[in-house]
Amino acid sequence: PEVVESLAWSRAADRREGGLLPAVVQDAGNQRVLMLGYMSRQALEFTLSSGWVTFYSRSRARLWTKGESSGHRLALVSIEADCDGDTLLVQARPLGPTCHLDRASCFAGAPASVLATLDALIAQRDRERPDGSYTTQLLQLGVTRAAQKVGEEGVETALAAVVQDDAALLGEAADLTYHLLVLLRLRGLGLAELDETLRGRGG
Ligand code: AMP
Ligand code: ZN
Ligand code: ZN
Ligand code: ZN
Repeated sequence: PEVVESLAWSRAADRREGGLLPAVVQDAGNQRVLMLGYMSRQALEFTLSSGWVTFYSRSRARLWTKGESSGHRLALVSIEADCDGDTLLVQARPLGPTCHLDRASCFAGAPASVLATLDALIAQRDRERPDGSYTTQLLQLGVTRAAQKVGEEGVETALAAVVQDDAALLGEAADLTYHLLVLLRLRGLGLAELDETLRGRGG
């Protein structure tokens, strides 16, 4: 593939296997940085053909498909090179915690989009409908009730702004956001579709 040839293999700091380039892996859902690995040309080609993120393991001196023993694989979404072709950015969907310490990211404090995390949680509640969850209750009440909640929270948000109560404004805006995501989910929509719509407006 084109990307493989465009890379600066000959300038790689580590010359093993024809050159090893650092590859930063990011969660395509919530943008969290997950881990750093090294890819040889072969590792990159295998990643592209299999759809599973695969590195060259320097300690084991062989190709290593992340999750090959733990099952916590990284499903490839996209790969791009940096400006001068010596570093890779991999977008992936993790099937489980990426770090062997059972954490989502190898960087314990790596930030993730709060909205994307909330949207994913709401989607999970929708699939599993666990008892005792407020989100499950709301989902079971259906579109009309959720729409009514969005209307109420919208009015509460507007009122808080008008009376200049910033603490209340933030609280109501958070309520509104949550209920809006639940309403979208009830229509089979989520943050991905909202993102696209906002992007389409040049925002
Ligand atoms: P896995 O590839 O998830 O099946 O894990 C196999 C082995 O690779 C683990 O026992 C660790 O030694 C190592 N390992 C797994 N995940 C990572 C990671 N994110 N960074 C570095 N080493 C890892
Ligand atoms: Zn670079
Ligand atoms: Zn780790
Ligand atoms: Zn409210």
